[in-house]
Amino acid sequence: MKQRINLLIAFSVVAFIVLTTVQCYLVKTTYDYKVAQFHTQIKNEIAQITNNYSDIDSVLVSKKEALYKSLSENYIVGKNSKSVVKTGILENEYKDALTQKIQRKFERDLPNFKIDFAIVLNKFILYKNAKKADTIFSEKPFIENKLYGNLASLNHAFLVRSYVGTTNGSFENQNYQLLTEDSMYVSVIDWEMIILRRMTFILILSLFSIATIISLFVIAIKALIKQKKVSDVKTDFINNITHELKTPLATLGISTKILEQKSIRDNDENFNSIVNTISRQNNRLQNLIDQVMANSLAENEIELKKEKIETEDFLLSIVNDFKITFPKINLKTDFQTQKTVLILDKFHLTTAFLNVLENAVKYGSKTITVKTRIVEKQLSIIFEDDGIGIAKNKQSLLFEKFYRVEQGNLHNTKGLGLGLYYVDQIVKAHQGTVSVISDLGKGAQFTILLKV
Ligand code: ADP
Repeated sequence: MKQRINLLIAFSVVAFIVLTTVQCYLVKTTYDYKVAQFHTQIKNEIAQITNNYSDIDSVLVSKKEALYKSLSENYIVGKNSKSVVKTGILENEYKDALTQKIQRKFERDLPNFKIDFAIVLNKFILYKNAKKADTIFSEKPFIENKLYGNLASLNHAFLVRSYVGTTNGSFENQNYQLLTEDSMYVSVIDWEMIILRRMTFILILSLFSIATIISLFVIAIKALIKQKKVSDVKTDFINNITHELKTPLATLGISTKILEQKSIRDNDENFNSIVNTISRQNNRLQNLIDQVMANSLAENEIELKKEKIETEDFLLSIVNDFKITFPKINLKTDFQTQKTVLILDKFHLTTAFLNVLENAVKYGSKTITVKTRIVEKQLSIIFEDDGIGIAKNKQSLLFEKFYRVEQGNLHNTKGLGLGLYYVDQIVKAHQGTVSVISDLGKGAQFTILLKV
């Protein structure tokens, strides 16, 4: 059974890991899809705004074209080198003005997004006499080739569009065509937050489903472990009661066999001794059955016959009787209360207190101290022993029906696991509580609290 539970836990963990991985994969795919969708949206919206830079400012655009022309023409006649052309383009005088214009346009037309951008020049190619291509400049998009814009890096930016422009001209009897290509990159501030906000529903749903799966696993495994404990406890009880019944039944069997012998029946002394044995074993069987029957009652089914009692006197009489039964046990009292009058059922409480005291003896105690205290308007009756003690992890089930601690040579001690269950039921029927403080090898301290 334990192996099966471990196997089930292992399967559950594997299934959980697989499910979580699938969930993460789905969330990641959705995220990527949302990012792509967001980029497309921004691209479309920006495309509508700046199809051509002349939409933004035709004066500046014509200035730009004039600059390109003069640089090209100077190059054609050999006045400019390629690097001078490049520097001339990149250090254009209208850089700041155009950047501000485009920025303002974005702010006006796309008020929901804060957009940074950069327009970088990729190509500047001259075709002289419409024949040979003279590449003055051709590079991959690169932030150092920024024409306009406020972006400092292209790392987190995405390409919105590339713009290819051609200009035809003629200079000193030479026809030429100029081909330029620039690309616009944008970065939307806090775009991750915008996408996460768009994914809120999916994120909540997947977190909720993972939490539900974890809770279901935990509930199912807890139920299984509890069921196993209950079934173990029941098996133990059956073993214990069988063990307890075997001895009197065997004695009864032998005694009947002996009585069948005429010589024994004729001897009065022998006959009486055997009859006594039979009667003792009969009583023992009866007691065992009574014990099981008594404990089959739930706490609210126990009928109490309550009466006013001076608790300390009542305790003292139990202690004194116990001393006579167990003369070798050092039973001490430490009462710090006096004449506490409570309304109690003497009969049931006597049995309950005796159960605790007998347990102390059964589980290796030589010295027992019975204490009384007043704690928060309650009478606290403490039974302290120096026996074998109870491991901390065994204490939670101690007051359960049929529960016995199985460790070391404890199986040698007789019992049905009903003693403490009975104590708990009786104390609860008096609206009190019982608790234990103990550890293995350190004795045990049972505390019963009763309302004053
Ligand atoms: P039983 O004594 O018949 O086994 P109880 O219900 O009286 O059943 O006790 C339950 C278990 O609690 C015992 O099996 C024993 O292991 C443990 N126990 C009870 N009292 C003590 C004690 N004073 N010291 C150590 N162990 C104890």
